[in-house]
Amino acid sequence: RHLYTCTQNSLSLIISVFVYISTFYQAVLQALEDGLKKADADPSVKAVMICGENGKFSAGADIRGFSSPKTLGVALGPIVSLIESSEKPVVAAIEGVALGGGLEVALGCHYRVAHAKARMGLPEVTIGLLPGAEGTQRLPRLIGVPAALDMITTGKHIPATEALKLGLVDEIVEENTIEAAIRLANKVIGQPLGPRRLSLKPVPKLPNMEAFLQEAQVKVKRQARGFLAPELCFQAVQAATQRPFAEGVRRERELFQVLLSSGQAQALQYAFFAERAVHRWATPAQPTAASTFTVAGQGLGTMGQGIVTSLVKANIPVVALEQNLEYLNKGRKAVMVLLEREAKKMEGGAQKLDFHNPARLQFTVDFNLLHDVDLVIEAVFENMALKKEIFHKLSNICKPGALLCTNTSALDIDEIASATSRPQQVIGTHFFSPAHVMRLLEIIYGRHTSPSAIATAMQLAKDMKKVGVVVGNCFGFVGNRMMFPYVEQAVFLLEEGSRPEAVDQVLEDFGFKIGPFRMSDLAGLDVGWRSRKGQGLTGPSLPAGSSARQRRGQRYSPLPDLLCERGRFGQKTGKGWYQYERAGGRTATPDPWIHGFLSQYRDTHRIETRYIDQEEILERCLFSLINEGFAILAEGIASGPEHLDVIYLNGYGWPKHRGGPMFYASTVGLPRVLAKLQKYSEAHPDVPKLRPSAFLKKLVAVGNAPLKEWMSYLSRQSPKL
Ligand code: NAD
Repeated sequence: RHLYTCTQNSLSLIISVFVYISTFYQAVLQALEDGLKKADADPSVKAVMICGENGKFSAGADIRGFSSPKTLGVALGPIVSLIESSEKPVVAAIEGVALGGGLEVALGCHYRVAHAKARMGLPEVTIGLLPGAEGTQRLPRLIGVPAALDMITTGKHIPATEALKLGLVDEIVEENTIEAAIRLANKVIGQPLGPRRLSLKPVPKLPNMEAFLQEAQVKVKRQARGFLAPELCFQAVQAATQRPFAEGVRRERELFQVLLSSGQAQALQYAFFAERAVHRWATPAQPTAASTFTVAGQGLGTMGQGIVTSLVKANIPVVALEQNLEYLNKGRKAVMVLLEREAKKMEGGAQKLDFHNPARLQFTVDFNLLHDVDLVIEAVFENMALKKEIFHKLSNICKPGALLCTNTSALDIDEIASATSRPQQVIGTHFFSPAHVMRLLEIIYGRHTSPSAIATAMQLAKDMKKVGVVVGNCFGFVGNRMMFPYVEQAVFLLEEGSRPEAVDQVLEDFGFKIGPFRMSDLAGLDVGWRSRKGQGLTGPSLPAGSSARQRRGQRYSPLPDLLCERGRFGQKTGKGWYQYERAGGRTATPDPWIHGFLSQYRDTHRIETRYIDQEEILERCLFSLINEGFAILAEGIASGPEHLDVIYLNGYGWPKHRGGPMFYASTVGLPRVLAKLQKYSEAHPDVPKLRPSAFLKKLVAVGNAPLKEWMSYLSRQSPKL
C-alpha cells in the first residue's frame, strides 16, 4: 500500500510496510512482493529498506482475519522467504512495534535496526495460534532455543534493549531509525548475504538440548491446562532443532492448521471482541465526576486494601477510612506493603506512584473527612445491618452529589440504598480478590440508581483499568449467582461418591486454574458458612426438626457446614477439603481424614457410594452454571451472553481458550446441553438448578440459535441495560 521510491544516497528503493489492519493485508503482501521483485529487477537498486508507517513497523495481521485461513500468516511465509532470498541486502527499520507477522518480516530481512523504544514479540500464542510465517524456524536460529521458546510460547513483548542483548536486532538507535537503517544498508552493500540468511543457519547447539527440551515441554504443558497453542508452539520450535529448515516450515504449517481447526483460536477471538463490546457499552447519561474523583475507601480489610491500592495506582486521590485506630494501623501497613511492591514493578516506567503524599492518600478514622469526596467505596464485613448503618451515616455526611458504592458479594443493593436519602446515587461495585490484581468489576445498579451514577461507576472502572460490567441486582449478581449451582453440584458429587481431588482434577483439566474445592479452601469455608447462617440454612436460626439434607423442599448438603463446625476453614486453618503443611499453607494434599469422613457420612445417610465418571462431573458442574446463565439473561440481569463470558473470563478463572461459559455452551451445542440437564434433572428432581431454564429450551426449540441472536428471542430487556 505504501510503496514509494527514494533516490537519496545510493539507496534507490524504499518499501514501506504497514501491516496494521488486515483489511489491507492482502494488498500489503502484494505490495511487498511487487516491490521486492521491482527492486531485484532494477540494476540501479543496491539495497532495500523496509519500514513501517506512522512510527510503527507492524503490529501483525488483524485478529479478525484469524478465522479465515486464506488471509493468514501462512500467506506471508513465502514473502518472508522472498525477502531473505533477495540478492540485495534488505534492512528492517523497526520503530514502535514489530509483532507477529511484522516480526516475521523483520526476521526475513538480512539486518535489523530498531529504535530504542520499539517492542518486539510473537504474540500469536495468545490468540490460540503460532507464528505461521516461518517465525518458529527463524527465531531459534537467530537467538537460540531457550530465548525463542520463551518468546514464542508466552507471546511476550520484549523491549529493543533486550532484543539487542539477545541478538534479535543488530543495532538500536535513539534518533531516526530509518536514517540509521539506510546508513547500515549503505555500509553492507556488496558484502556476502549467505551468513545473514537465517534459513541457512543451524540452530545454535546446547550441551543438553534433549534434557532442556524435555523439561521445557513439561513446563509448557503444566501451565497450558488444555490450551493447545503453547504446546504446539513448543513442538514447532522443537522441529527447528530436529529437522532442516524446509521440513521445519512444513511442520510449522501442519501445526498451524491443527490450531486453526481446534476451535480454540475462535474462542480466544470471541473473548477478545466480547471484552471490547463490554468496554464500549455505555448508558446515554454522562458520568457525574469523570476522572476527577476523590474516593474514600471505607474498611481496610482484605478487599479495602486491594481497592485502595488500585485507586492509588490509577492516580486517584484517596481517603482511607477505618473503624478504629487498631484496624487503621493494620490496614495502613498492609496497603503500604502492597504499594511498595507495585512501585517496584513500575520502576523505570513513565508513571510514578505518589503514595507518601497525604494529598493523594490519607488514612483516617474520622468519618467527617468524607464530606468532600466524590465517591465512596464501602468494603466492610458482609452483613446487611452493618452495611445499612454505614450507608445511613454516609448519606448524612457526604456532599449531595457524592456516589455511594458498596463492595458486596451478594447483598441486595436496594435494601442498602433504602438506608440513605439518595438511593439514586447508590450502586454496587463488586471487586474481586486480590482487588489490585483482578481486572473484573461487576457494577450493580439498583431500582433507583440513576443512569449518571452507572456512567460514573463505569468511568471509575475505566480509570482503574478494570473491566466494568454493568448488571442488575439479584442475589449473587451474575458471577456468584452462576457460581452457586456449580459449587453446589461439586458438593453433591462428594455426597454421591466422588472425592474433592477427583472433582478438582476434572475441572482443572478443563482449564480452570483451580477447581471448586481448592478454590473454597483458598477463599475460606467460613465465608459461605456465615452467609448460610445469615440465610437461616444452618446454625441457630435453622428451625428445629429440619431434615439434614433438605432445606425448603430442596436438596441441601450440610457437608461444608460440618467441616466448618470442626474448624476446617481451608488454607487459613491448615485444613479444609484438603490438608495443608500448616495454617496459612498453600500446598493442598488429599486428606485421608476427609475420605473417611465422607464414607461415614454416606453410611449415616444411607447413600450408596457410586463411581462417578469425569463426564458427569464436568457436565453437572458446568451445565448447572450455564443453566443459571440462561436464567440470568431471561430475567434481564445482564445485557447479553458476552457480558456473562467477560465476567467469567476476568473474575472466575474460566479458561480463555474456551471463550466463557455461554460461548462454551454454544460450541457444545444447546440441544446437547439441554438434553444433559434434562437427564440429570430427572435423576435429581429435588435440585431445581438442574431443571433446564425456559430460555434455553426456547433457543433449542427455535433451532439452536447462534449466540449472536440469543437476545433477539427475549421479549423483555431491562430498561437500564
Ligand atoms: P474483611 O473481614 O477482610 O474486612 C472487613 C472490614 O470491615 C474491616 O475493614 C473491618 O474494620 C470492617 N468492619 C467490621 N466491622 C465493622 C464495624 N462494626 N464498623 C465499621 N467497620 C467494620 O472482609 P473483606 O474480605 O475485605 O470483605 C469486605 C466486603 O467485600 C464484604 O462485603 C465481602 O462480601 C466483599 N467481598 C469479599 C471478597 C473476598 O474475596 N474477600 C470478594 C468480593 C467481595
